[in-house]
Amino acid sequence: MTTTLKNKTPQRKCIGCNESKPKKELIRIVRTPEGEMLLDSTGRANGRGAYICNNIDCLQKAIKTNGLNRAFKMNVDTDVLLKLSEEMAELGKR
Ligand SMILES: [Zn+2]
Repeated sequence: MTTTLKNKTPQRKCIGCNESKPKKELIRIVRTPEGEMLLDSTGRANGRGAYICNNIDCLQKAIKTNGLNRAFKMNVDTDVLLKLSEEMAELGKR
């Protein structure tokens, strides 16, 4: 990806609503080299990542539109989607 924006805050696109937002407003979903999918609240986990709003609606949208499958170039298991939804709900409570 090439960007010539001189904005200090890197922007990433949410895989749910497809809006570009400052990276810090988004949550990174990462697929680790071991094949585990998790919400990366530190933004430092190794692996292929995708960004999503800190919003369960966007996660649901990403699931419905196969945004996760596209982002990770694989079919993400329903079990995993459920786990991510639960983790997202937990984050929302904090
Ligand atoms: Zn979003």
